[in-house]
Amino acid sequence: MTARIIDGKALAQKVRARIADDVARLKAEHGIQPGLAAVLVGDDPASQVYVGMKHRATEAAGMYSRQLELPDDTSQADLEALVGELNADDAIDGILVQLPLPDDLDPQPVQELIDPSKDVDALNPYTAGRLAVGDPTFLSCTPYGVLELLGEAGVDTVGAHVVVVGRSNLVGRPLSNLLTLKGNDATVTLAHSRTKDLAAVCRSADVVVAAVGRIGLITAEMVRPGATVIDVGTNRGDDGKLVGDVDFDAVAEVAGAITPVPGGVGPMTVTMLLQNTLEAARLRRGLPRR
Ligand code: NAP
Repeated sequence: MTARIIDGKALAQKVRARIADDVARLKAEHGIQPGLAAVLVGDDPASQVYVGMKHRATEAAGMYSRQLELPDDTSQADLEALVGELNADDAIDGILVQLPLPDDLDPQPVQELIDPSKDVDALNPYTAGRLAVGDPTFLSCTPYGVLELLGEAGVDTVGAHVVVVGRSNLVGRPLSNLLTLKGNDATVTLAHSRTKDLAAVCRSADVVVAAVGRIGLITAEMVRPGATVIDVGTNRGDDGKLVGDVDFDAVAEVAGAITPVPGGVGPMTVTMLLQNTLEAARLRRGLPRR
């Protein structure tokens, strides 16, 4: 069997076009232009690429994008003061602090300072907690993108057994909370580095989501024939090319549907950041989400 490829790039284009239409309508009908501020500290090349990508996508959607680049030796107090200014700035609906921060800066207090009404990256513990208690404000961008990809692939999560491999606060944990919300109704196993017999756990899944950061972790033997496989991993191979956590060629022979890397989850993560920014702009002015 050869798996159907779930095309994240095509879905992202479609969703971004819809977001751009919604932004144009918001401007025309209410004079509102959603604004996103992205804060980049230091000169990590990968972070520069990600922030650049988010900036271009924000502008392409018709939103206002502000990029704030701070030097490597920025103090915790200065970074926190900047977040305070952005919280108070009415032109800014969403605030994103690109991770990782330089080693001597602590991300946690910075995330905690972001006004929950502008927390479009959903990393403030308040936002994560709202999702955990089943009453979410903003959904974490990558998990939100995974849910959209499953929907596009026609995968019904209701009653499905989803194994999420990786329990980070960025991906695995919020994804498991999202999938178990009423309406999504999946039965979730959240696996991690201490999970016993990961292969057997994965083989029992209708859907496997790999969010670890290890090339080739998910092999064909770990996937039940016909299961859906979502690869969140982004790793650099020896040849410098981007690869996921899934042994793509072998798993595609077994799975029913699979996301590629690149062109799967990645484009959807940026797209859902735009969606959250649009929603933040509406909610902050008392308009319904959409
Ligand atoms: P992370 O914070 O490093 O977490 C990795 C998780 O994987 C941890 O929970 C860890 O378990 C688990 N793990 C490590 N080795 C394992 C093993 N052998 N078997 C089972 N679980 C194992 O990583 P992250 O931030 O979640 O990112 C994960 C991957 O997704 C990375 O490649 C990252 O680049 C990528 N990513 C992609 C996107 C996108 O948009 N495509 C977005 C975010 C992240 P313990 O908790 O037990 O240590």
